[in-house]
Amino acid sequence: MLTSEVAPLLEIRELGLEFSRFSGKARVLDGVSLSVCKGEKVGVVGETGCGKSLTMKAVMGLLPTRRTTVTGGEILYKGQNLLGMNLSARRRITGKEVVMVFQDPNGSLNPVFTIGEQMEDILGWSSREPARRSLRFGLPKAVAAEARRRAAGVLAQVGLADPERILNSYPFQLSGGMRQRVLIAMALANQPELLIADEPGTALDVTTQAQILRLLDDLVRARGIAILMITHNLGVVRQVTDRVYVMYAGTVVETAPTERLFADPLHPYTQGLLASVPRLVGGGLSEGIDGSVPDYLSPLPGCRFAPRCARATERCHQEKPVPRVAGEAHLVACHLVK
Ligand code: SF4
Repeated sequence: MLTSEVAPLLEIRELGLEFSRFSGKARVLDGVSLSVCKGEKVGVVGETGCGKSLTMKAVMGLLPTRRTTVTGGEILYKGQNLLGMNLSARRRITGKEVVMVFQDPNGSLNPVFTIGEQMEDILGWSSREPARRSLRFGLPKAVAAEARRRAAGVLAQVGLADPERILNSYPFQLSGGMRQRVLIAMALANQPELLIADEPGTALDVTTQAQILRLLDDLVRARGIAILMITHNLGVVRQVTDRVYVMYAGTVVETAPTERLFADPLHPYTQGLLASVPRLVGGGLSEGIDGSVPDYLSPLPGCRFAPRCARATERCHQEKPVPRVAGEAHLVACHLVK
């Protein structure tokens, strides 16, 4: 689903994923395609469980390997298929050129090491082979000292005063907002080209979340880093991104430039999602979307949204809609769009 003439930095083509469960195989991603160009800010929205985070974990190589099968597709980074690479080649890209910030700052830091030790680890070993990266205690002194100096610099860049104190602290000694800033600093330390942000700041209070989003926006803008932001918060998407993908039940149902999507959503699911946003003035309760996400174990042959769609026809239940062009950089997977 390319939307730009510029070669994408990251391009996911028709990605399919299955999860093995006791009760059978769940088809959790079904032909997901999306792309991000250099310096672009792209959002991925959808309900919890729609496959947003899974798609990103597939990019980062973080899926549970025994239970997960890639049933088709490609994940291209600068034209190279990450799925076809060996671990060592892949690790030279993910974690360095492509990095991810997770939503829970508490679960993403090791509680038994100081921030300094964890950052030295990342910065000191980043250029070495993956097999040796866990050998933290073998870091030469001069390399460790240089890594610490760089770590202090990058902590200051994310707005943390007194970097030396932060480096000497354990995660539990910092507030949630500070831990999230530390994670952003770790992600940006090796000057990545693409930052994947999974619901950044969601675990924090709204004021701190707003500060974190502003920080991310400022940093990626200043450094020309592309960002792929996963969120269920449409306000965040509108504020930060240039282009949006809407996902439903393991499929991409619509993509458009952000302002166009908000002004003229065409897929019934996108329309329902936008109508679900509570309004403070004059709107009262939001309308919401009736029903729940479909069973991934026995997906319908047609449109996955059909059981919840007020406009579904017989054809929708039988035939899977393919993405159709609805305007410049605007694609919609719905039989209603001609
Ligand atoms: Fe609704 Fe049919 Fe469009 Fe699916 S294809 S969103 S069921 S109208």
